[in-house]
Amino acid sequence: MLPEQSSLWLLQLLRGIQLAQFYRPMLEELNVTLPEHFDFVRPQDLDGIGMGRPAQRRLAEALKKHRSGLKSKNWVYKILGGLVPEQETPPPPESPLYPAEPEGGLKCLIPEGAVCRRELLGSGCFGVVHRGLWMLPGGKSVPVAVKSLRVGAGGPMGDELGAFLREVSVMMNLEHPHVLRLHGLVLGQPLQMVMELAPLGSLHTRLTAPAPAPPLPVSLLCLFLRQLAGAMAYLAARGLVHRDLATRNLLMATPRTIKVADFGLVRPLGGARGRYVMGGPRLIPYAWCAPESLRQGAFSSASDVWMFGVTLWEMFSGGEEPWAGLPPYLILHRLEKDCARLPRPPLCSRALYTLALRCWAPYPADRPSFTHLERLLQEAWPPEGHCVRAVTEPGALRMELGDPITIIEGSSDSTTWKGQNGKTFKVGSFPASAITLAEPPTASPVHRGSPAQGQRRRGSANGDRAKVKLEELPPAQGQRRKMPLRSMRGLSKSLESVLSLGPRPTGGGSSPPELRHARTGPEGPPALPPRPPLASSSSSQFRLSPSMQPPRPQREPLHSHPRGAAGANKAAGPPGGRLLDPELQRRIVEVELSVHGVTHQECRDALRTTGGDVTSAIQNLKVDQLFHLSSRSRADCRHILEHYHWDLSAASRYVLARP
Ligand code: AMP
Repeated sequence: MLPEQSSLWLLQLLRGIQLAQFYRPMLEELNVTLPEHFDFVRPQDLDGIGMGRPAQRRLAEALKKHRSGLKSKNWVYKILGGLVPEQETPPPPESPLYPAEPEGGLKCLIPEGAVCRRELLGSGCFGVVHRGLWMLPGGKSVPVAVKSLRVGAGGPMGDELGAFLREVSVMMNLEHPHVLRLHGLVLGQPLQMVMELAPLGSLHTRLTAPAPAPPLPVSLLCLFLRQLAGAMAYLAARGLVHRDLATRNLLMATPRTIKVADFGLVRPLGGARGRYVMGGPRLIPYAWCAPESLRQGAFSSASDVWMFGVTLWEMFSGGEEPWAGLPPYLILHRLEKDCARLPRPPLCSRALYTLALRCWAPYPADRPSFTHLERLLQEAWPPEGHCVRAVTEPGALRMELGDPITIIEGSSDSTTWKGQNGKTFKVGSFPASAITLAEPPTASPVHRGSPAQGQRRRGSANGDRAKVKLEELPPAQGQRRKMPLRSMRGLSKSLESVLSLGPRPTGGGSSPPELRHARTGPEGPPALPPRPPLASSSSSQFRLSPSMQPPRPQREPLHSHPRGAAGANKAAGPPGGRLLDPELQRRIVEVELSVHGVTHQECRDALRTTGGDVTSAIQNLKVDQLFHLSSRSRADCRHILEHYHWDLSAASRYVLARP
């Protein structure tokens, strides 16, 4: 059989090193037709066609010479090569055939015949995804997911091909336990990506699954958040921005493991400012986007952090759609002009919601990094306990002896807590004395490169700053209930945020309904949010960036908002719906972010009292918090706070220890 013109170079190269007998196996089994294809070929693949190691070395040498005389024009090479992030490890000298993987196995070129596709799993922007089986040369078969490039009548479309290859180029350089792994590429017709299979599908599908599927427990959602923060910290450290973080793009590999997927919108962060700015009209998931992304098409790790906050919100809202029904320019308007934020879902603790609010800080520089978020999550982690006395009172969360309970809200000075029964998944309030707190949850699978769990637990910034060690404190109120001291640690970590469960300053009727709800006595489980229809959520969330939208948000008079629009009532705008002076709004947000657990209205009132002075408003609110926590005078509270440099958490620990 005559060699194809396009692969003549291969035959010549192999003849030159007396390996012509491997021409057909290379062409047919490894699908190598161009020099760049060797980037994906592993030693095992060459072993598989019977080429010994000395012959492989000869081949490597010949290829090196061949390549040095070539300027690559191949499309795969051009796109993949051009997009490898800067931090990529250079190929080690001992394996000149392939680029090195940072960790784990090599991604490879997979022969077309080695993969068989089964049923359809889903479809995305530029391809369909099937469940499949990958037959390894040794006879073993691996369940995989196969994404095939959608091909039009005239072959692959330029844009889609580019996006497909860009996704490959990003994925082939990633290796993290919570990032979906790319196994390899099939250079066939159609072009196929062979990926790790996530058999349980997307987290969004799971969150919105109808009964009898039980809701996901709060403790599991927190675990997922930790996994997500770890994976995102990894991406950020590699200089990548994901740009499409949402529960639809988190895949469930096991019931307790999620993986970040869909790297179609990933971009390397260029320039000193660490930003990626879109070059023109593009589709973006606007309801998840930070204001700077909506306004200027600017993306950065900080905008990914904003999306992390929205993803957290989705998780705790049972997969609800953020800002449902609002067009992009109105979302921007609500975020910027009204300082509106998505409301706290009933399952979300105050501590976690505070964390989400920090992700939604108006200025990117004020948002925590993913590494910082990992720590903040640790501090906001809901404590776990076990039922020690059955609760059957009407209106209270029912529990039986031994039932695992996750505490959503509870402080040592309150006798009624809110939590979730891990056996029934019901949420409600119950007498604090009905449970005993367990050890803090043990470490989840920790991603590589992160500090050990124990280190992170001990390393609370607030705890370090406090002069008094928790163990040395006199018995706190919680201990009077025979609560083991070490169990209090989990609570004390999120003390600032649970403080707001206690009595509040009078006139606190401005609190949002969910706050009032949590402060009342025993109650039934809060209604779970209504579930959206099961239809795929992806396409409806994508719109052109607003710079391409005809109506400009600034010109949109506020009274023209579609009042009845679905989702409009969900936004937590300023009470009364009046448009505030932007400077005042900025100050309110600054105060809100500085004092955990205070409401928008409380911040506004505090600023009014201080004539707009932010520092004084923050200090007054902290004095209020401490005053209502203890039996001390306001002057005393101010003095203690000054002593602790206005660290409310440390001051609270001090007064709790000396009632
Ligand atoms: P994508 O094109 O990446 O958006 O994928 C489209 C859909 O295919 C997703 O929403 C998932 O439901 C499904 N899918 C993608 N990748 C996988 C995978 N590795 N394992 C299981 N399902 C997947």
